[in-house]
Amino acid sequence: MTANPIPFRTGNGYDVHRLADGLELWLGGIKVAHSKGAVAHSDGDVIIHALCDALLGAANLRDIGYHFPDTSSEYKGIDSKILLGQTMNMLRKKGYELGNADVVLCLQRPKVKDLIPAMQQCLAQTMQTDADNICIKATTTEALGFVGREEGVAAYATALLVRTSCI
Ligand code: MG
Repeated sequence: MTANPIPFRTGNGYDVHRLADGLELWLGGIKVAHSKGAVAHSDGDVIIHALCDALLGAANLRDIGYHFPDTSSEYKGIDSKILLGQTMNMLRKKGYELGNADVVLCLQRPKVKDLIPAMQQCLAQTMQTDADNICIKATTTEALGFVGREEGVAAYATALLVRTSCI
């Protein structure tokens, strides 16, 4: 079998966390003021978790649960930005660089549109890339389903990687 001649690879990721009263809500690396937060082994940042899986998928490096198991005390309460930084190290070690990433956050409440530039800056810094390479979009689900009932928060992510030798 010959090596893949195409210097680009795409990946996608999806994550969900349950929401409960009185917990912290972390999204895109920043703390969001809200009465509910994510039930999670880590800080429960669905944007970062979906993004890590998109990046790992693009590099064919398994998934976030494989590298950072939620059964390990090492990752209890961990800041997900640390996992994202380690994910970037893994894909760079394999010879890839981020082209761009695109994320959809599904959250009924609160509205996060004013926080998106801060999330982009935070993720760009963590990923050592330009903020223009990371798009974050937010949507409600029109009060439908578990997101609409405010029982949970979800995120979808897509990432494009470029082979470093082609940059
Ligand atoms: Mg998660």
